[in-house]
Amino acid sequence: LVSRKKQPENTVIDVLGTPVGGGSQVMIAGPCSVESYEQLRTVASALKDAGVKVMRGGAFKPRTSPYDFQGLGIEGLKMLKEVAAEFGLATISEIVHPAHIELAEQYIDVIQIGARNMQNFELLKAAGEANIPVLLKRGIAATLEEFVHAAEYIAVNGNSRVMLIERGIRTYEKWTRNTLDISAVPLLKQETHLPVLVDVSHSTGRKDILLPCAKAALAAGADGIMVEVHPEPQVALSDAAQQLNIPQFQELWEGIRLSGLFK
Ligand code: PEP
Ligand code: MN
Repeated sequence: LVSRKKQPENTVIDVLGTPVGGGSQVMIAGPCSVESYEQLRTVASALKDAGVKVMRGGAFKPRTSPYDFQGLGIEGLKMLKEVAAEFGLATISEIVHPAHIELAEQYIDVIQIGARNMQNFELLKAAGEANIPVLLKRGIAATLEEFVHAAEYIAVNGNSRVMLIERGIRTYEKWTRNTLDISAVPLLKQETHLPVLVDVSHSTGRKDILLPCAKAALAAGADGIMVEVHPEPQVALSDAAQQLNIPQFQELWEGIRLSGLFK
């Protein structure tokens, strides 16, 4: 169903009035984790001023260590809903349990399926029954074929509103957290008709090379960019090392727009 052979024209997904795909690109920005109303409002206000329409924020956090901050859960989703309504933004947040798909429909606009759950087939099936779009992240060690099959699981279970996002894969390289696989962008666009985005934060794990990586992604045909933004990254409860503060985000966004690659 997701194959380009099956549907030659690009799928365009409406995210609360913002089209994604088919020549319309999207910027998704926001904190790694939802931490408080104040934190979320500060980011939302800056995004609104910058003309960004879609805010991310994790409520259920799949952390490597069980001792790390696990997210605010349902409270976090409620915060997203309230702050999004206040600032007129669409929201995206990760769901990790099939039973929480209904919660997502109630509180957020796009379900994110994280890299660690790309092959959680019961979760993919449940997302297939959701009535909101899904942003599917590439697994940490997933081939593109496995990635496309995971998207197919969602589509075949009834939800054709699927967006793919390259978030870096694990290699021997240590200077970046993961290795951004730029070739995934044209290949996924060639093989599927789905929107393809690039997460420059989780792929690099850095703050200093996001502009060239975002430009490369857009030049390769990406339909959107995801970046983590936090009012005070140094005290963030997750991914402190890679989140941009608000002025840094504004500089990145300005650079992306000046490049002429973001339409
Ligand atoms: C995230 O975007 O919050 C996240 C956990 O990313 P990933 O699943 O790509 O590691
Ligand atoms: Mn993160």
